[in-house]
Amino acid sequence: MNTSRTTADDDRERARGDWNINPPWVTPTPTEDDREFWEGAGRGELRVQRCGSCGLHQHYPRALCSHCGSESVAFITASGLGTIYSFTVIRQNGVPPFRDRIPFVVATVDLDEAGARLLAAMPNCEPERAAIGMPVRAVFRPAGDGLGLIDFEPMP
Ligand SMILES: [Zn+2]
Repeated sequence: MNTSRTTADDDRERARGDWNINPPWVTPTPTEDDREFWEGAGRGELRVQRCGSCGLHQHYPRALCSHCGSESVAFITASGLGTIYSFTVIRQNGVPPFRDRIPFVVATVDLDEAGARLLAAMPNCEPERAAIGMPVRAVFRPAGDGLGLIDFEPMP
């Protein structure tokens, strides 16, 4: 039996609070533009838009390419892989459910799909471990009504 523990094991067990309890104020309310993103997350897929003109990607979803202005944008399923562009550690929040989760990392993640950047929580990452440039992957939480929320975690 392998009893050695890794940093990834510690990260996975660190999440404080119940991240699967989603009160109404943190539940997605999809619009026509972003419904595909939220429903994709409910299926365990990270859906972002790719531009048919310049080939770059974007998030959040919108009618025009944020890089070149083209109307030729369509959803693709991203790999879910990326790197931390920047991050902060939330250490104070008195509002449930966040008060039971602090401290936790919130990061902006550059996806491997060029051009797309997401803001996401990292409940499975020790705040001291987070670093700019860290490789991360998407993980999915159900949010009711077939929708999902997307977090990121360090690559094992
Ligand atoms: Zn474009």
